[in-house]
Amino acid sequence: MNNFESVSFKPAFSHIYIEEKALHHQVTEQILQKFPRAQQTIISHYKDVFCRSRQQFGLQKKSPKLILAKRENACIYEGARPCQSFGYTHFYYTSSVMNCLYDCEYCYLQGMYPSANLVVFVNLEETFRQVEELLQKHPLYLCISYDTDLLGLESMLGYVRQWITFAKTHENLTIEIRTKSANYSKIADLTPSDNVILAWTLSPQEIAMRYEHGTATTAARLKGAALAAANGWNVRLCFDPVLWQKNWQISYEQLVTETFETVSPNDILDCSIGQFRAAKDALKRMRKNRPNSALLQYPYQLQDGVYQYEQARAVEMTEQIKRWVGNYLPPKKIFLWQGED
Ligand code: SF4
Repeated sequence: MNNFESVSFKPAFSHIYIEEKALHHQVTEQILQKFPRAQQTIISHYKDVFCRSRQQFGLQKKSPKLILAKRENACIYEGARPCQSFGYTHFYYTSSVMNCLYDCEYCYLQGMYPSANLVVFVNLEETFRQVEELLQKHPLYLCISYDTDLLGLESMLGYVRQWITFAKTHENLTIEIRTKSANYSKIADLTPSDNVILAWTLSPQEIAMRYEHGTATTAARLKGAALAAANGWNVRLCFDPVLWQKNWQISYEQLVTETFETVSPNDILDCSIGQFRAAKDALKRMRKNRPNSALLQYPYQLQDGVYQYEQARAVEMTEQIKRWVGNYLPPKKIFLWQGED
Protein backbone atom coordinates (compact mmCIF):
# COMPACT_ATOMS: atom_id res chain seq x y z
CA MET A 1 0.00 0.00 0.00
CA ASN A 2 1.40 3.40 -0.85
CA ASN A 3 1.00 6.55 1.22
CA PHE A 4 -1.84 7.88 -0.89
CA GLU A 5 -4.33 5.03 -0.86
CA SER A 6 -6.29 6.21 2.16
CA VAL A 7 -6.64 9.74 0.79
CA SER A 8 -9.53 10.70 -1.50
CA PHE A 9 -8.57 12.61 -4.62
CA LYS A 10 -10.32 15.10 -6.83
CA PRO A 11 -11.21 13.84 -10.32
CA ALA A 12 -8.69 14.34 -13.12
CA PHE A 13 -8.60 17.90 -14.44
CA SER A 14 -10.44 19.47 -11.52
CA HIS A 15 -8.03 22.38 -12.07
CA ILE A 16 -7.04 23.78 -15.45
CA TYR A 17 -4.13 26.18 -15.85
CA ILE A 18 -4.20 28.26 -19.00
CA GLU A 19 -1.31 30.20 -20.47
CA GLU A 20 -2.30 33.78 -21.26
CA LYS A 21 -1.34 33.31 -24.89
CA ALA A 22 -3.43 30.13 -25.17
CA LEU A 23 -6.54 31.78 -23.70
CA HIS A 24 -8.48 32.52 -26.83
CA HIS A 25 -7.39 29.59 -28.93
CA GLN A 26 -10.28 27.55 -30.33
CA VAL A 27 -8.90 24.30 -28.83
CA THR A 28 -8.65 25.93 -25.39
CA GLU A 29 -12.29 26.98 -25.61
CA GLN A 30 -13.32 23.53 -26.80
CA ILE A 31 -11.51 21.83 -23.89
CA LEU A 32 -12.84 24.25 -21.29
CA GLN A 33 -16.38 23.52 -22.45
CA LYS A 34 -15.79 19.87 -21.63
CA PHE A 35 -14.84 20.68 -18.03
CA PRO A 36 -17.33 23.36 -17.00
CA ARG A 37 -16.75 22.80 -13.27
CA ALA A 38 -12.96 22.93 -13.38
CA GLN A 39 -11.26 25.70 -11.47
CA GLN A 40 -9.42 27.85 -14.02
CA THR A 41 -6.18 29.70 -13.34
CA ILE A 42 -4.40 31.95 -15.81
CA ILE A 43 -0.62 31.58 -15.88
CA SER A 44 2.09 33.27 -17.89
CA HIS A 45 4.01 30.14 -18.92
CA TYR A 46 3.28 26.43 -18.57
CA LYS A 47 6.67 25.84 -16.98
CA ASP A 48 5.63 28.01 -14.02
CA VAL A 49 3.36 25.12 -13.00
CA PHE A 50 4.84 22.12 -14.78
CA CYS A 51 8.44 22.66 -13.70
CA ARG A 52 7.91 23.72 -10.10
CA SER A 53 10.34 22.08 -7.73
CA ARG A 54 9.39 19.41 -5.18
CA GLN A 55 6.38 18.00 -7.05
CA GLN A 56 5.37 14.41 -6.31
CA PHE A 57 4.77 12.51 -9.54
CA GLY A 58 3.00 9.57 -7.86
CA LEU A 59 0.65 11.83 -5.91
CA GLN A 60 -0.17 13.96 -8.95
CA LYS A 61 -0.94 10.84 -10.98
CA LYS A 62 -3.90 10.22 -8.65
CA SER A 63 -5.48 13.52 -9.64
CA PRO A 64 -3.69 15.13 -12.58
CA LYS A 65 -4.34 18.75 -13.48
CA LEU A 66 -4.48 20.09 -17.00
CA ILE A 67 -2.24 22.81 -18.40
CA LEU A 68 -3.12 24.43 -21.72
CA ALA A 69 -0.18 26.02 -23.45
CA LYS A 70 1.01 27.33 -26.79
CA ARG A 71 3.98 25.70 -28.49
CA GLU A 72 6.48 28.28 -29.65
CA ASN A 73 9.72 26.40 -30.26
CA ALA A 74 10.78 23.38 -32.30
CA CYS A 75 8.65 20.35 -31.54
CA ILE A 76 9.80 17.70 -34.02
CA TYR A 77 12.65 15.58 -32.66
CA GLU A 78 14.91 12.93 -34.15
CA GLY A 79 14.18 9.45 -32.77
CA ALA A 80 16.42 8.41 -29.88
CA ARG A 81 18.33 5.12 -29.71
CA PRO A 82 15.87 3.28 -27.40
CA CYS A 83 13.12 3.80 -30.00
CA GLN A 84 12.43 1.62 -32.98
CA SER A 85 12.76 3.19 -36.42
CA PHE A 86 11.20 0.24 -38.36
CA GLY A 87 13.80 0.77 -41.06
CA TYR A 88 12.79 4.35 -41.88
CA THR A 89 15.72 6.69 -42.55
CA HIS A 90 14.13 9.90 -41.34
CA PHE A 91 12.59 8.82 -38.06
CA TYR A 92 11.19 11.62 -35.89
CA TYR A 93 8.69 12.06 -33.12
CA THR A 94 6.58 14.87 -31.81
CA SER A 95 4.63 15.51 -28.63
CA SER A 96 1.56 17.71 -28.74
CA VAL A 97 0.77 16.50 -25.22
CA MET A 98 3.21 15.94 -22.37
CA ASN A 99 2.17 13.13 -20.03
CA CYS A 100 -0.52 10.54 -20.23
CA LEU A 101 -3.93 9.69 -18.82
CA TYR A 102 -2.70 6.16 -18.15
CA ASP A 103 -0.23 5.13 -15.47
CA CYS A 104 2.06 2.33 -16.58
CA GLU A 105 4.45 1.29 -13.86
CA TYR A 106 7.33 1.10 -16.32
CA CYS A 107 6.56 4.39 -18.05
CA TYR A 108 9.68 6.46 -18.75
CA LEU A 109 7.70 9.69 -18.39
CA GLN A 110 7.88 9.40 -14.60
CA GLY A 111 11.66 9.58 -14.98
CA MET A 112 11.60 12.39 -17.50
CA TYR A 113 9.14 15.03 -16.35
CA PRO A 114 9.07 16.91 -13.04
CA SER A 115 5.27 16.68 -12.96
CA ALA A 116 2.48 14.20 -13.76
CA ASN A 117 0.12 16.99 -14.81
CA LEU A 118 -0.82 16.99 -18.49
CA VAL A 119 0.32 19.77 -20.78
CA VAL A 120 -1.70 20.11 -23.97
CA PHE A 121 -0.26 22.33 -26.68
CA VAL A 122 -3.36 23.81 -28.23
CA ASN A 123 -1.76 25.16 -31.39
CA LEU A 124 -1.38 21.93 -33.36
CA GLU A 125 -1.18 24.11 -36.48
CA GLU A 126 2.36 25.14 -35.42
CA THR A 127 3.44 21.46 -35.39
CA PHE A 128 1.88 21.00 -38.83
CA ARG A 129 3.85 24.03 -40.05
CA GLN A 130 7.11 22.54 -38.77
CA VAL A 131 6.30 19.17 -40.36
CA GLU A 132 5.74 20.89 -43.71
CA GLU A 133 9.09 22.65 -43.34
CA LEU A 134 10.87 19.31 -42.77
CA LEU A 135 9.01 17.68 -45.64
CA GLN A 136 10.62 20.24 -47.95
CA LYS A 137 13.94 18.54 -47.13
CA HIS A 138 13.06 14.83 -47.02
CA PRO A 139 10.26 12.32 -46.36
CA LEU A 140 9.31 11.86 -42.75
CA TYR A 141 8.35 8.96 -40.54
CA LEU A 142 6.80 10.59 -37.51
CA CYS A 143 5.53 9.05 -34.28
CA ILE A 144 2.82 11.41 -33.08
CA SER A 145 1.64 9.58 -29.96
CA TYR A 146 4.87 10.08 -28.11
CA ASP A 147 5.12 11.00 -24.43
CA THR A 148 1.37 10.40 -24.22
CA ASP A 149 -1.41 8.20 -25.59
CA LEU A 150 -3.09 10.46 -28.11
CA LEU A 151 -5.92 8.10 -29.08
CA GLY A 152 -6.68 7.69 -25.37
CA LEU A 153 -7.31 11.45 -25.28
CA GLU A 154 -9.31 11.58 -28.50
CA SER A 155 -12.67 12.42 -26.85
CA MET A 156 -11.10 15.48 -25.30
CA LEU A 157 -8.76 16.63 -28.07
CA GLY A 158 -9.65 15.15 -31.44
CA TYR A 159 -5.95 15.42 -32.41
CA VAL A 160 -5.72 11.94 -33.98
CA ARG A 161 -8.50 12.88 -36.39
CA GLN A 162 -6.68 16.11 -37.26
CA TRP A 163 -3.38 14.29 -37.82
CA ILE A 164 -4.96 11.70 -40.09
CA THR A 165 -6.63 14.45 -42.11
CA PHE A 166 -3.30 16.29 -42.34
CA ALA A 167 -1.42 13.13 -43.41
CA LYS A 168 -3.90 12.51 -46.23
CA THR A 169 -2.66 15.63 -48.00
CA HIS A 170 1.07 15.04 -47.34
CA GLU A 171 2.13 11.85 -49.07
CA ASN A 172 5.82 12.03 -48.03
CA LEU A 173 4.71 11.86 -44.43
CA THR A 174 4.07 8.57 -42.63
CA ILE A 175 2.64 8.79 -39.14
CA GLU A 176 2.47 6.16 -36.42
CA ILE A 177 -0.23 6.47 -33.74
CA ARG A 178 0.49 4.09 -30.88
CA THR A 179 -2.09 3.34 -28.20
CA LYS A 180 -3.17 1.17 -25.29
CA SER A 181 -6.72 2.46 -25.61
CA ALA A 182 -9.91 0.94 -26.97
CA ASN A 183 -10.73 4.16 -28.78
CA TYR A 184 -10.60 3.02 -32.39
CA SER A 185 -14.34 3.77 -32.53
CA LYS A 186 -13.51 7.51 -32.27
CA ILE A 187 -11.86 7.46 -35.70
CA ALA A 188 -13.55 4.44 -37.29
CA ASP A 189 -15.58 6.67 -39.62
CA LEU A 190 -12.41 7.96 -41.34
CA THR A 191 -11.17 6.48 -44.61
CA PRO A 192 -7.94 4.52 -44.08
CA SER A 193 -4.76 6.15 -45.38
CA ASP A 194 -1.71 4.34 -46.72
CA ASN A 195 0.60 6.67 -44.81
CA VAL A 196 -1.05 6.22 -41.41
CA ILE A 197 -0.11 3.35 -39.10
CA LEU A 198 -2.34 2.51 -36.15
CA ALA A 199 -0.27 0.65 -33.57
CA TRP A 200 -1.49 -1.22 -30.51
CA THR A 201 0.80 -2.12 -27.63
CA LEU A 202 -0.08 -5.59 -26.35
CA SER A 203 0.71 -7.26 -23.05
CA PRO A 204 -0.60 -10.44 -21.42
CA GLN A 205 -3.76 -9.47 -19.54
CA GLU A 206 -2.27 -10.12 -16.09
CA ILE A 207 0.63 -7.78 -16.92
CA ALA A 208 -1.77 -5.16 -18.27
CA MET A 209 -3.78 -5.39 -15.04
CA ARG A 210 -0.78 -5.30 -12.76
CA TYR A 211 1.33 -2.66 -14.46
CA GLU A 212 -0.66 -0.70 -17.05
CA HIS A 213 -3.13 1.13 -14.84
CA GLY A 214 -6.08 2.75 -16.54
CA THR A 215 -5.44 1.25 -19.97
CA ALA A 216 -7.90 -0.85 -21.97
CA THR A 217 -7.91 -4.60 -21.46
CA THR A 218 -5.84 -6.70 -23.84
CA ALA A 219 -9.05 -8.10 -25.35
CA ALA A 220 -10.42 -4.59 -25.99
CA ARG A 221 -7.16 -3.46 -27.63
CA LEU A 222 -7.19 -6.55 -29.84
CA LYS A 223 -10.79 -5.95 -30.79
CA GLY A 224 -9.90 -2.41 -31.89
CA ALA A 225 -6.87 -3.64 -33.83
CA ALA A 226 -8.90 -6.36 -35.55
CA LEU A 227 -11.61 -3.92 -36.58
CA ALA A 228 -9.10 -1.37 -37.85
CA ALA A 229 -7.22 -4.03 -39.83
CA ALA A 230 -10.46 -5.39 -41.31
CA ASN A 231 -11.39 -1.83 -42.30
CA GLY A 232 -8.16 -1.50 -44.28
CA TRP A 233 -5.89 0.46 -41.93
CA ASN A 234 -2.19 -0.31 -41.61
CA VAL A 235 -2.07 -2.02 -38.23
CA ARG A 236 1.08 -2.58 -36.22
CA LEU A 237 1.19 -4.82 -33.15
CA CYS A 238 3.77 -4.04 -30.48
CA PHE A 239 4.79 -6.60 -27.88
CA ASP A 240 6.77 -3.95 -26.13
CA PRO A 241 7.97 -3.84 -23.45
CA VAL A 242 8.21 -7.57 -22.91
CA LEU A 243 8.42 -8.01 -19.14
CA TRP A 244 10.01 -10.90 -17.39
CA GLN A 245 8.00 -12.75 -14.76
CA LYS A 246 7.85 -16.32 -13.53
CA ASN A 247 6.27 -18.46 -16.23
CA TRP A 248 6.50 -15.63 -18.74
CA GLN A 249 6.52 -18.26 -21.50
CA ILE A 250 2.94 -19.33 -20.73
CA SER A 251 1.62 -15.75 -20.63
CA TYR A 252 3.34 -14.59 -23.80
CA GLU A 253 2.58 -17.71 -25.82
CA GLN A 254 -1.09 -17.30 -24.89
CA LEU A 255 -0.93 -13.63 -25.84
CA VAL A 256 0.53 -14.38 -29.28
CA THR A 257 -2.09 -17.08 -29.88
CA GLU A 258 -4.94 -14.82 -28.74
CA THR A 259 -3.60 -11.99 -30.87
CA PHE A 260 -3.55 -13.89 -34.14
CA GLU A 261 -6.82 -15.65 -33.40
CA THR A 262 -8.38 -12.19 -33.10
CA VAL A 263 -6.49 -10.21 -35.74
CA SER A 264 -5.97 -11.86 -39.12
CA PRO A 265 -2.19 -12.13 -39.75
CA ASN A 266 -2.80 -11.28 -43.42
CA ASP A 267 -4.18 -7.89 -42.37
CA ILE A 268 -1.16 -6.92 -40.25
CA LEU A 269 1.43 -4.43 -41.51
CA ASP A 270 4.13 -5.57 -39.08
CA CYS A 271 4.92 -6.34 -35.49
CA SER A 272 7.56 -5.22 -33.00
CA ILE A 273 9.04 -7.02 -30.03
CA GLY A 274 11.04 -5.01 -27.52
CA GLN A 275 12.45 -5.65 -24.11
CA PHE A 276 12.17 -3.24 -21.18
CA ARG A 277 14.68 -0.41 -21.43
CA ALA A 278 15.23 2.85 -19.59
CA ALA A 279 17.90 5.53 -19.79
CA LYS A 280 20.25 5.53 -16.81
CA ASP A 281 19.12 8.75 -15.13
CA ALA A 282 15.48 8.12 -15.96
CA LEU A 283 15.45 4.77 -14.17
CA LYS A 284 16.97 6.38 -11.09
CA ARG A 285 14.11 8.91 -10.97
CA MET A 286 11.51 6.23 -11.79
CA ARG A 287 12.69 4.17 -8.83
CA LYS A 288 12.52 7.22 -6.59
CA ASN A 289 8.96 7.91 -7.73
CA ARG A 290 7.89 4.29 -7.25
CA PRO A 291 10.02 2.92 -4.41
CA ASN A 292 7.77 -0.12 -3.94
CA SER A 293 7.82 -1.29 -7.54
CA ALA A 294 9.48 -4.71 -7.86
CA LEU A 295 9.37 -4.19 -11.62
CA LEU A 296 11.54 -1.08 -11.39
CA GLN A 297 13.80 -2.44 -8.66
CA TYR A 298 14.83 -5.42 -10.83
CA PRO A 299 18.66 -5.44 -11.17
CA TYR A 300 18.74 -4.28 -14.79
CA GLN A 301 22.12 -4.07 -16.45
CA LEU A 302 23.53 -0.86 -17.83
CA GLN A 303 24.63 -1.02 -21.46
CA ASP A 304 25.67 2.15 -23.25
CA GLY A 305 23.66 4.32 -20.88
CA VAL A 306 20.48 2.21 -21.12
CA TYR A 307 19.25 -0.15 -18.40
CA GLN A 308 17.85 -3.43 -19.71
CA TYR A 309 17.61 -7.11 -18.81
CA GLU A 310 20.85 -9.08 -18.77
CA GLN A 311 21.62 -10.07 -22.32
CA ALA A 312 20.90 -13.81 -22.00
CA ARG A 313 17.45 -13.15 -20.56
CA ALA A 314 16.64 -10.44 -23.09
CA VAL A 315 17.69 -12.59 -26.03
CA GLU A 316 15.85 -15.64 -24.71
CA MET A 317 12.59 -13.71 -24.32
CA THR A 318 12.64 -11.75 -27.55
CA GLU A 319 13.84 -14.68 -29.67
CA GLN A 320 11.21 -17.02 -28.21
CA ILE A 321 8.42 -14.52 -28.78
CA LYS A 322 9.75 -13.94 -32.30
CA ARG A 323 9.47 -17.68 -32.95
CA TRP A 324 5.85 -17.73 -31.79
CA VAL A 325 5.01 -14.65 -33.87
CA GLY A 326 6.90 -16.25 -36.76
CA ASN A 327 4.21 -18.93 -36.89
CA TYR A 328 1.91 -16.22 -38.22
CA LEU A 329 4.06 -13.52 -39.85
CA PRO A 330 7.05 -13.67 -42.23
CA PRO A 331 10.43 -12.53 -40.80
CA LYS A 332 10.41 -9.27 -42.78
CA LYS A 333 7.33 -8.16 -40.81
CA ILE A 334 8.91 -8.74 -37.40
CA PHE A 335 11.10 -6.04 -35.82
CA LEU A 336 13.14 -6.63 -32.67
CA TRP A 337 14.61 -4.24 -30.13
CA GLN A 338 17.35 -6.02 -28.24
CA GLY A 339 19.69 -3.18 -27.44
CA GLU A 340 20.37 -2.06 -30.99
CA ASP A 341 18.03 -0.62 -33.53
S1 SF4 B 1 0.43 4.41 -22.22
FE1 SF4 B 1 2.59 4.87 -22.72
S2 SF4 B 1 2.82 7.05 -22.25
FE2 SF4 B 1 0.96 6.34 -21.23
S3 SF4 B 1 1.59 5.79 -19.14
FE3 SF4 B 1 1.66 3.93 -20.41
S4 SF4 B 1 3.78 3.82 -21.15
FE4 SF4 B 1 3.44 5.92 -20.42
